[in-house]
Amino acid sequence: MNYLKKTDPQIYKIIKSEIKRQQENLELIASENFTSLAVLEAQGSVLTNKYAEGYPHKRWYGGCRNVDDAESLAIERARELFRAEHVNVQAHSGSQANMAVYFCCLNVGDTIMALDLACGGHLTHGHPHNFSGKFFKVVSYGVNPETERLDYAQILALAKEHRPRLILAGASAYPRAIDFKKFREICDKVGAYLFVDMAHIAGLVAAGAHPSPVPYAEFVSSTTHKTLRGPRGGFVICKKEFARKLDLEVFPGIQGGPLMHVIAAKAVAFKEAMSGRFEKDQHRIVKNASVLCDCLMKKGYRAVSGGTDNHLFLLDLSAIGLTGKEAQEKLDLCGITVNKNLIPFDDKSPVLTSGIRIGTPAVTSRGMKEKQMCLIAEFIDRGLRSGEEKEFAGIKREVSALTKKFPLYPELKGI
Ligand SMILES: *Cc1c(COP(=O)(O)O)cnc(C)c1O
Repeated sequence: MNYLKKTDPQIYKIIKSEIKRQQENLELIASENFTSLAVLEAQGSVLTNKYAEGYPHKRWYGGCRNVDDAESLAIERARELFRAEHVNVQAHSGSQANMAVYFCCLNVGDTIMALDLACGGHLTHGHPHNFSGKFFKVVSYGVNPETERLDYAQILALAKEHRPRLILAGASAYPRAIDFKKFREICDKVGAYLFVDMAHIAGLVAAGAHPSPVPYAEFVSSTTHKTLRGPRGGFVICKKEFARKLDLEVFPGIQGGPLMHVIAAKAVAFKEAMSGRFEKDQHRIVKNASVLCDCLMKKGYRAVSGGTDNHLFLLDLSAIGLTGKEAQEKLDLCGITVNKNLIPFDDKSPVLTSGIRIGTPAVTSRGMKEKQMCLIAEFIDRGLRSGEEKEFAGIKREVSALTKKFPLYPELKGI
């Protein structure tokens, strides 16, 4: 970063500090990951200089030959990876991918059904302050109070009562496998579109570590930066019949020029996701989540729904008298990064919460396995029970010693 160092020492220093933070801390935020250096290089390339409104070979600007090739590759690879009929790779983010899908098949005022935020849904699934909650009538479904899992009978009953035009499946904080076939059957019974937001699980789906929604849903949206391990961004898969309309909703519907450097990096990530190494890592993520969750349950913690099938789980801390916020802050002092999270039927506010969400994609990308998961469970347990500065500092030193053994980018020495 020699040029940056000279031009803008402040930003240079900030990035250096962030490299150090990522290197030394244990990253357990379920929506985060570490991209490969190849993805970073594509994203940091001169493709950022290019305007390319439109689609490959149908642009509103000249000079698009090279970016046409990049976008075509991204589309082809995503289609192959997910066995999709049509893919749009231009969405700047997961939220914009969702917006494009809604606008593709709904009118303002239509009714949609989606998972309640407190049960793991995303802001774009109908939060009153989000565009989704403002433009559409939202009927939320929850989880069963006993099992804390999706209750397909309840979803069907609600669908019959409210006759939504679209039913959304997918979540940001749901630790169990989702049965997309059941969702399809429900949609068919009430004549609704099925829209699956697989932002969190896209990497698992690509690797066969979670069943794919693609055969069942008219629309599937995703981010590229979570389990999928690509650059920050989104994409949408749809059935052929919606291809033209969907493309029009992304551009010119809700976006201007596509981020060609990000699209090139998405192409790289899709290619990496076809490798045997990626497949192994995704299964490892699931295994690591299950081991970490088991170790914590053995120490007396309650996991929502009693465990996990995917890359994340939720701990209910109400029994040990901590809020999610307090737990997050304590673990921060130990160099362990998690986020506070509402749990189903939470009696605390979203600012405090009763739970924390823990995910294993990032630590798995660094090469950690079962043995390290048990060690991390020890750190978390000790961190949550500590109160004194000295204790937190001690755990932080042990965390640093562990992360040092799993360098963020082993190819780069001394970054
Ligand atoms: C992360 C996420 C999104 C939004 O992604 P952004 O890129 O942050 O806009 C959408 N849906 C779900 C389920 C998510 O988890």
